[in-house]
Amino acid sequence: MNELDVLNNIASNLTERKSSAALSNYEVLCNNISFTHGLLERGIAYIEIIITKIKNTLSNNNLLNRDYQKNNTLNAFTLLIPSLLLNDLEVIKKLSIYTEPDDRKGINIDNLQKLHRDFIDYNNLATATRQLIDSLVSDAYQIQRLDPKEFNYHVLLSLNSFEKYATKSIRQGLFNEEIEESLEEFRKLSFREWKNSSITKCENITFANKVDYLFSELQKNSPDDILFTDEIKNLFKFTSEFTHIGYISTFFTSQAGSQPIFGSEKGPYLPSTENFSELKYQILETCINFIYQVYLPSIKVCIDTTVLDSNNYIIQTDLNNLIKLFEKGIKTRNNDYYFFVCSSLIDSTQSITLPCLCGYENSWISPHKDSDLFCTGCGSSYNIIGMEGDPGYIFTSNGPIKVIGSSVPDIQDLSYAEQQKLMDEYTKLSSQNK
Ligand SMILES: [Zn+2]
Repeated sequence: MNELDVLNNIASNLTERKSSAALSNYEVLCNNISFTHGLLERGIAYIEIIITKIKNTLSNNNLLNRDYQKNNTLNAFTLLIPSLLLNDLEVIKKLSIYTEPDDRKGINIDNLQKLHRDFIDYNNLATATRQLIDSLVSDAYQIQRLDPKEFNYHVLLSLNSFEKYATKSIRQGLFNEEIEESLEEFRKLSFREWKNSSITKCENITFANKVDYLFSELQKNSPDDILFTDEIKNLFKFTSEFTHIGYISTFFTSQAGSQPIFGSEKGPYLPSTENFSELKYQILETCINFIYQVYLPSIKVCIDTTVLDSNNYIIQTDLNNLIKLFEKGIKTRNNDYYFFVCSSLIDSTQSITLPCLCGYENSWISPHKDSDLFCTGCGSSYNIIGMEGDPGYIFTSNGPIKVIGSSVPDIQDLSYAEQQKLMDEYTKLSSQNK
């Protein structure tokens, strides 16, 4: 093959889109996305709680390891860590916005174009993903190392670029004299000195280097872990290709080609909707895997280094629960833990007590959002079934239970005879159903 053969192949194959094909089952994909996106939302709500705890703990001098206490060498990190974590939270929230399940309510043949996914959609999804994976890797690296020179490099590099085009008002809001001085100091360094000078250092420059570092520090070196490092690096390359408007990614997403209309019980959809959903689902899974396998364990390392015994233990427990929440969700699609609640109570401003199997009582506060349906005692997640009226007790496969918010007494408050009566009804009913 010579250069003209290759050029001709490109010209004949990569200038006109083949008509799109749908490869997976769209209904199944939609359900999977809906579940996984819900899991991410619950994770975000829990991360917010944990960051608040970390921030409060790090601002209390008595709870810190010596080096991190006031007037000691590494005290600055007690301010920097929460700030990094809050940045990460924003980036995770952004991904959540771009990975919502398709809204197919009211879609018909006439407005089907609403479901068409093109260049802008792909580009937003890929860019949000790249930002997440890039920020979380880089921040996990920083909070694991807690090395002043490494941190300076990270910030000064960013500041150096940012400052060049920043407007007057941005500068005024951000730059004080000390920062200007530090930047001046940095600019005295030659490019080669940046990664190793008296004020800066970077031992793992590239994204891939940092990923390898994180996995090795967390002692993740099983064959599955090695595959997962590749997945992370590949996701980074793939999404960078979109962000940098690479030829193939732009071509694939901008030329519609001919699109047949598909149909399912829930209405019509397009191959581009389905193709996009497939990518969305894969990205959601990889990112959640990354968050619970690498990012959260890196926060654990950081807290272990900075915070003293008992408070360290409290935050570690929360982080472990959150890791469990994600892990269980991804592995088992654990979706079968239900609470039955009066719809009127869900619509009200009252907070609803949800007693978990682990014994922990979670308070579900108004507005009653699905993203808050998880247990901070053990990391389980729940579903709610709203019931109209005042149904009292209902019978489930696990026995009689009280619909939360009903006017009847709790089962354990009934007299022995009344409890017996309820059990008899239940036994009668379940034997009829056999
Ligand atoms: Zn629990």
